[in-house]
Amino acid sequence: MTALTAVRGMNDILPDLTPRWRDLEAAATGLLAARGYQEIRLPLVERTALFQRSIGEVTDIVEKEMYTFTDRSGDSLSLRPEGTAGCVRAMIENGLLAQEGATQRVWYAGPMFRHERPQKGRYRQFHQIGVEAFGMPGPDVDAEQIVLSARLWETLGLSTVSLQINSLGTPQSRTAYRERLVAYFSQHERSLDEDSQRRLHTNPLRILDSKNAAMANLIAGAPSLPDSLDAASRAHFEGLCGLLDAAGVAYTHNPRLVRGLDYYTHTVFEWITDRLGAQDAVCSGGRYDGLVARLGGRETPAVGFALGMERVVALLEDAGIAPTSLAPDCYLVWAGAGLAPSALQLAEQLRNSSGLRVIQHCGGGSFKAQLRRADRSGARFALILGEQEWAAGNVQVKPLREEQAQSSVPLSDLAQWLAQQGLGAGR
Ligand code: ATP
Ligand code: MG
Repeated sequence: MTALTAVRGMNDILPDLTPRWRDLEAAATGLLAARGYQEIRLPLVERTALFQRSIGEVTDIVEKEMYTFTDRSGDSLSLRPEGTAGCVRAMIENGLLAQEGATQRVWYAGPMFRHERPQKGRYRQFHQIGVEAFGMPGPDVDAEQIVLSARLWETLGLSTVSLQINSLGTPQSRTAYRERLVAYFSQHERSLDEDSQRRLHTNPLRILDSKNAAMANLIAGAPSLPDSLDAASRAHFEGLCGLLDAAGVAYTHNPRLVRGLDYYTHTVFEWITDRLGAQDAVCSGGRYDGLVARLGGRETPAVGFALGMERVVALLEDAGIAPTSLAPDCYLVWAGAGLAPSALQLAEQLRNSSGLRVIQHCGGGSFKAQLRRADRSGARFALILGEQEWAAGNVQVKPLREEQAQSSVPLSDLAQWLAQQGLGAGR
């Protein structure tokens, strides 16, 4: 029988790692709320056609990475490979962009699915925090999102990421650039790898995105995108640069940055790192002014980004940043059936009135065995409830992490005593 292991590339996130995930989520949700972004929760499964139409048929994701299946009703469905398509669908379907001039700021977090070759920083189920803003055409909101992401790294204490930006310009600029690219790569058709040959006439911009090192020289010689930008595109990009300068956010203009998806216009950006090997993109996004209309909504400018949570968590670990501890404060050790109600009551009282994290020992056993568990739980103190002590109104407090004598503390002083150690109300 095949072992019932997890599916390749789909990971368990075990309790020793979840505090880091929580830190990331808490920092992000705080910064988002402070800027008026509201959470939206979306299905993990959508119609395959949604991704074909939004991400584009000739993209890595749609060509070879999607988990697509036919359900029992015969509909072709896919696990979402990214969040923007579903988010735009939900905006349109629920009429959130129906009013002339409507604006929306939303975010979501959750798993995405892509059938890629699993390696460090690249998985088949991975998680993103996605941020999208609708209805605002100018570089002001592009800057808002880039500054927000910069603030997130700062809040987390991460300094190992750097920002690259570029502009794809208006659809007209992009079309003009596309023609110059096709002309250039056609001259070198025989030097193109198989993927790039296929893309030459379907999606030539994507050739610039190639990860094949053998293509690097050819790509370096390709016409430069900024030369194709029209006046409106330049003004948008210069506006963004000015705002980033004013906000003190450092960036590099990378004219080769085009991003993997079909729907970008104007601003594209990527936070990259050299700490995760080949998986250097931590957070990426840009403007996608055409997508809402393409999916059947009214013409609405939009900008968004997604960050890869696994990669940010890996960077936190790499930087040696300690996660916020959620270790228990106390482990309550007790013996004697007669004390069961008192133990339960004491643990509840410490949790509810003093905000302490208390594990009450369950499952019986000798004091010695219970103390071993107390030690393993990571708690700072064992609270020992013995029959005689209890009758006298006292609890024994045994420090588990520090060289400190065990002491007998009157029950009435216990919460205050622990607060003085920096726990509960003293935290
Ligand atoms: P890459 O170039 O690494 O394949 P991408 O351009 O496909 O990334 P996006 O679609 O822009 O990535 O997704 C946004 C972010 O999600 C990326 O910057 C990255 O941090 C993360 N990400 C993308 N694919 C994966 C994956 N398979 N496993 C883990 N994280 C991923
Ligand atoms: Mg990819």
